[in-house]
Amino acid sequence: MTFRATILTLYPEMFPGHLALSLAGKALERGQWALDTVQIRDFAQDRHRTVDDTPAGGGAGMVLKPDILAKAIDNVSDGDNRPRLLMSPRGNPLTQEKVRELAAGGGVVIVCGRFEGVDQRVIDGRNLEEVSIGDYVLSGGEPAALTLLDAVVRILPGVMGNALSGTHESFENGLLEHPQYTRPQVFEGREIPAVLTSGNHAAIEKWRLEEAERLTRTRRPDLLAGKTHPVTK
Ligand code: SAM
Repeated sequence: MTFRATILTLYPEMFPGHLALSLAGKALERGQWALDTVQIRDFAQDRHRTVDDTPAGGGAGMVLKPDILAKAIDNVSDGDNRPRLLMSPRGNPLTQEKVRELAAGGGVVIVCGRFEGVDQRVIDGRNLEEVSIGDYVLSGGEPAALTLLDAVVRILPGVMGNALSGTHESFENGLLEHPQYTRPQVFEGREIPAVLTSGNHAAIEKWRLEEAERLTRTRRPDLLAGKTHPVTK
């Protein structure tokens, strides 16, 4: 089953963006995943193709109209059981767990907001799951959708050249990744830790786990809270 992403946006020209390059781009060319975009404005009914209106209750900015967006969504996802996401700074934070869950499914429909956001009634009426990529505000959902897709596509079967290269990564085991080194042996007076060139695989694994735990404790103690990890017991 090919993973298929459908993006609803006012800026379809922003896709596939960087996902046309590197491993994701090659996988797209090979048909290992598919991407299509829907121009929300195509569902506007007036001659100015209006998609937004002033916020009820007053205030700055504009809000994406529910009737137009609902039509765009219905056009895509009638009889389609892919999850429907709305990129939104108010949403559930995107995590590697969520990325894995999405990658295991058949695809995703993503609505990209603009302006002050989207009328709440279309979020409720079309069961849009709000997903945030971080505690900051972007000008539109498109870079957020590209970020989410980047994370999902790279773990689709066959997309990463070396299947093992994902297994020790940050968040895969609830820890940040250990430091990485490569040649030369000495760089500007700094040496690769001796254990990594010892050939002792058990010692290397132990070092990596300890370093991962140390970094996680220092930088992201929230990841360890409430979890029992082999090293942290
Ligand atoms: N007024 C909204 C608020 O304060 O929550 C912000 C709207 S923002 C200017 C326009 C659109 O960008 C949003 O509807 C959403 O689609 C997208 N967006 C902005 N920040 C985001 C984030 N951190 N994660 C995901 N999408 C985001």
